[in-house]
Amino acid sequence: MTAAKALNVILLGPQGAGKGTQAAALQARLGMVHIASGEVLRAAKNSGTELGRSAKQYMDAGELVPDEITIALLLEQISGAEGASGILLDGFPRTVAQAEALDAALAARGGAVDLAVELVAPLDTVRRRLMGRLTCRTCGAVYNVRSRPPKVAGVCDIDGGELYQREDDYQEAIDRRLAIWREQNQALTGHYEKRGILFPVDADRAPSLVTDTIVGLLERHRSTVRGG
Ligand code: AMP
Repeated sequence: MTAAKALNVILLGPQGAGKGTQAAALQARLGMVHIASGEVLRAAKNSGTELGRSAKQYMDAGELVPDEITIALLLEQISGAEGASGILLDGFPRTVAQAEALDAALAARGGAVDLAVELVAPLDTVRRRLMGRLTCRTCGAVYNVRSRPPKVAGVCDIDGGELYQREDDYQEAIDRRLAIWREQNQALTGHYEKRGILFPVDADRAPSLVTDTIVGLLERHRSTVRGG
């Protein structure tokens, strides 16, 4: 993707809908910069800074990190991605306040969110995916003990890193995260629906089919923009 075709895209949907998997595939195919809020916040948490320490208690309980902390950390990352060939945001925004802060930050540099892709999957599916999820400590690649196991148990296929179950991928925290997602989701999707840029995609399919659908959407959107 060249600078002229840059698109700012956000991925919406519950945890376990496949946002991270799709973002990685889209980054590989289209060369967009992938910014995952969970990764940014986990890095802050592990850095032991004051902001990171206050984020930790919310994350481990499966609660949303307060907007002020999340917005400060994510906008910092996004401004660092300036001039890139397009940004793909995964997990941010999760609240209308975050969406408004993002709109303002992009507008200040003459941009906007171009597309909001909503990954739609039944809650039973996402709960099952999250319960079996394993994450690489080094590169963040995601596996599933049942549907997508690594070649060697406990070891990442990509870089040999250790696979672990995240502190918040346990029944209680999963249910809490999905309940919070339900509370926020309608207002958040409504924010983008009003602007006519919300595109729901069936995410209860093989990941490669979901990627093909999203790539098709982005291509159509880019040609609409180019064709004026
Ligand atoms: P994720 O990797 O997207 O599942 O995020 C892991 C955890 O990070 C969430 O359960 C929240 O505690 C926190 N988090 C990630 N993104 C956000 C956000 N946009 N707003 C608030 N908290 C967030």
